[in-house]
Amino acid sequence: MGDFLNTDIKFLKGVGERRAKTLAAELDIRTFRDLLYYFPFRHVDRSRFYKIAELNPDMPLVQIVGRFISFQIEGEGAKRRLHGVFSDGSRLMECVWFSKVDALKDAYRTGVDYVIFGKPVLYRSIYSISHPEVSQYDPNKPALGFMGVYNISEKMRKGGYASRLFPALIKNITANPRFNNIPSVLPVEVRDRYRLMPLKEALVQMHSPENPDLLAKARERMKFEELFYLQLHILRFSRERGRKIQGLIFPVIGKYFNDYFFNCIPFELTGAQKRVLKEIRADMRTGRQMNRLLQGDVGSGKTMVGFMSMLMAIDNGFQAAMMAPTEILATQHYETISKWGSMIGLRVELLTGSVRAKKRREIDEGLRSGAIHILIGTHALIEDNVVFGNLGLVVIDEQHRFGVAQRAKMWKKGAVPPHVLVMTATPIPRTLAMTVYGDLDVSVIDELPPGRKPIETLLRYDENRMEVNRLIARELAAGRQIYIVYPLIQENEKLELKSVEEGQERIRNLFPEVEVCCVHGRMKPEEKDFQMEKFVSGKARILVATTVIEVGVNVPNASVMVIENAERFGLSQLHQLRGRVGRGSDKSYCILMTKYKTGADTKKRLSIMTETTDGFLISEADMKLRGPGDMEGTQQSGLAFELKVASLTSDGQILNIAREAAEKVLNAHPELVAGEVSPYDKTGEKIMLSPGSLNVVRRELHFRFSREVDWSLIS
Ligand code: ADP
Ligand code: MG
Repeated sequence: MGDFLNTDIKFLKGVGERRAKTLAAELDIRTFRDLLYYFPFRHVDRSRFYKIAELNPDMPLVQIVGRFISFQIEGEGAKRRLHGVFSDGSRLMECVWFSKVDALKDAYRTGVDYVIFGKPVLYRSIYSISHPEVSQYDPNKPALGFMGVYNISEKMRKGGYASRLFPALIKNITANPRFNNIPSVLPVEVRDRYRLMPLKEALVQMHSPENPDLLAKARERMKFEELFYLQLHILRFSRERGRKIQGLIFPVIGKYFNDYFFNCIPFELTGAQKRVLKEIRADMRTGRQMNRLLQGDVGSGKTMVGFMSMLMAIDNGFQAAMMAPTEILATQHYETISKWGSMIGLRVELLTGSVRAKKRREIDEGLRSGAIHILIGTHALIEDNVVFGNLGLVVIDEQHRFGVAQRAKMWKKGAVPPHVLVMTATPIPRTLAMTVYGDLDVSVIDELPPGRKPIETLLRYDENRMEVNRLIARELAAGRQIYIVYPLIQENEKLELKSVEEGQERIRNLFPEVEVCCVHGRMKPEEKDFQMEKFVSGKARILVATTVIEVGVNVPNASVMVIENAERFGLSQLHQLRGRVGRGSDKSYCILMTKYKTGADTKKRLSIMTETTDGFLISEADMKLRGPGDMEGTQQSGLAFELKVASLTSDGQILNIAREAAEKVLNAHPELVAGEVSPYDKTGEKIMLSPGSLNVVRRELHFRFSREVDWSLIS
């Protein structure tokens, strides 16, 4: 019966070959199951009509009954648009369309009762809805009730897809008699124990709920399902590790550490850095493998902590490696760390994809013989042909680019796996991080190095350009460097290129006396590095770039970060970008540029940036604003998994229950952990599963995570 859910989506009534292609390409929906699990990101109340007088700018989508009073076409060319004045009998509002202007003007009539539906925006004290859904009002038709609103891509929208298509398509699945026999996903023992709604009912309610209560129950069940399997996966992994994986023991703090600490370190460590180093030291002498997540806001000094941890390994006769997500970042770490290392006679090497054969042979030899103390690099480090003599510690920078599987791969690099320190600037609340990562311990650097001048964040509109240019000129005159960042435009790479190139042109004309360099996503890596190097060395004073500079680049002399089209960035991204300045002792500025005409929502969002520099607050606000349906949001939260329904910030309670359930199941069924019987089977409370349920669990784990973790790597 599982076959029903695996049916190719093109066979669904209302889809067909062409739509199926689009669904696959844009939303990764290929089967009935994919579609059923493509949940609305919110629901709208279409059980009632609103009056214009009741509207407020915070409202989601609403429906209003009334008539169009007049239509008018305004603007020329690309700016051509249709305005309609709409009245509900007592007040007026506006509707605007930017495409199909002529067709719509002919299609809609004045003096006819319509229902308009959309998001009201307050602009110059009149409400307007752009591209409302318009349908004829029929007082005899039953109300629509609660309806799902689905995320669809811009491409799909242009191709005529609308959110309202989804409930109908989903009904075509749920109305099929075979839907009644879909296999269960949660073991029935677990479902009953936690009184969760059955899957079939939950799926139906998720898309077209009968009422808010049933929707809440359905959401609870789907969140539980998602978190239960996530927890099961993580726990299984950490139990496996706890049982099998011994750690190297580093008993001494020796000559390298002490020499560096007492004679070479260029600054006093902050209290938080010292505390974290103690935690790491304690971990590495226990005989268990360290797997520690080090969280610290941008600029909090994680690199130094990583470096000094490596000294602990080296003092005990081991080698250390540091892995970074990009070549630019790896190179920068290499420069910093080889400088620090050379003071105490360490050999540090850089290994990236672009290292030539001769140099590569040298590195290979140095690694095997142990002559190289520290190896820095990109993904290239995890290739099987990189062989260390005795690797003791791996430091991974900016964790969210590396999944569990990649970490596991590093473990294979020694007879006893090395300790692992994962550093990230992505702030997730501490308790949450522990529960979600499960297999990682967490350290936090919650203090910035002293003497930093706060960064002044300014929100500026296009018409303030003169003022912004004056500020840039002033900073240039004082010898500082400037970042100017444009958004990545994935749907339209040409447009992206155009905006960066035009920006660069404009800047060159404005500041002809300084060198301007440029980095964007479509460049070859060598060209990128070449350009980046100009900025890092200080030769170029202005860097125009897309977000490739987001992670980790350190140029303390840079004092201004201008972010163009700031509204196109997520808050966490803006925070990361802002962290590129304020690294020296001079006052720094982050300028968020937007068009004057941004909505109230955007303004509210961006003003969070001007109000706080606390990464935790910003990431929480970001997650709340983006909602759980946003994939980028979950990526940014640092998870290697995509959460579809559950939210890290608001579902802590369900997360705890799901974790407890997963623990109890594992206690009863140690065979779910790969390999021999684990010592955990004697401890803790258990939930016994029937053989059928066990199969359900195995199948789901495989289905959900087999692409993520290759178990053979750690057994
Ligand atoms: P991040 O945590 O974002 O990776 P970095 O490690 O790049 O931060 O550190 C940011 C800057 O702060 C670097 O120039 C670094 O040398 C400096 N720094 C780190 N720790 C201290 C400290 N305790 N006192 C003064 N400066 C420090
Ligand atoms: Mg860093």
